[in-house]
Amino acid sequence: MQKKIIIAVDGYSSCGKSTLARDVAQRLGFSYIDSGAMYRAAAYFFLKNKIKASGFINKPENEQTDILAHMEIEFQNINAPGKHDIFLNGVNVEKEIRSPEVSDIVSAVSAIPALRKKMVVMQRKFAEEKNIVMDGRDIGTTVFPNADLKIFMIADLDVRAKRRYDELASKGIEITFEEVKQNIRARDYTDTTREISPLVKADDAIVLDNTSLTREEQLDFVLKIIAEKFGIGNQ
Ligand code: C5P
Repeated sequence: MQKKIIIAVDGYSSCGKSTLARDVAQRLGFSYIDSGAMYRAAAYFFLKNKIKASGFINKPENEQTDILAHMEIEFQNINAPGKHDIFLNGVNVEKEIRSPEVSDIVSAVSAIPALRKKMVVMQRKFAEEKNIVMDGRDIGTTVFPNADLKIFMIADLDVRAKRRYDELASKGIEITFEEVKQNIRARDYTDTTREISPLVKADDAIVLDNTSLTREEQLDFVLKIIAEKFGIGNQ
């Protein structure tokens, strides 16, 4: 079997990783996988079942395993460009996982070692059959340390908060700019300071600061690198 190409896009919250990763995947005909959606679906599972991350971590390992065995996360339409729905135990939760309630707890849930272990196994499976672009926090460091290309995204905090605020407002979600900014700051803190797979730039990742770049400009930046490196996608 020919080796599949893996492109890892990591970075801070609300840097536009999903937009970039989806655009790149669409241009190259690769599968796009939003690993953040997987952690958000897990956080939604915790929320629905009234499980607190702090309590969960103190449970014996077998109990943790039992609980996580009842959490089945899968993507549907993964190969359809622009369509990428996540299902929790057979139910489409694409909308629910973007709620402020989920955003508030997702970083604490994501710091649970047993959960990350389960997610990484699933994430690696995606790359067995398809060329993929995956975005997240630990894709270039833990999930695919040998990824063919690693992009690490950064952007000014206020710019990130404004983009996320506009996105949530357009979906009719009621939240203030300050609340959005505070959530991003808190998630960055938890994600960079957790013990297991913290958010950190891989040594061989290319930094992309998109503070003043448009969606097209950031896509061009990455497509140029891909064209030079793999000789594909340059039309
Ligand atoms: O990408 P998104 O902002 O939707 O991710 C939500 C949260 O999921 C992040 O703040 C982080 O806590 C967690 N996450 C993670 N590892 C990943 C992707 C997301 O810990 N690979």
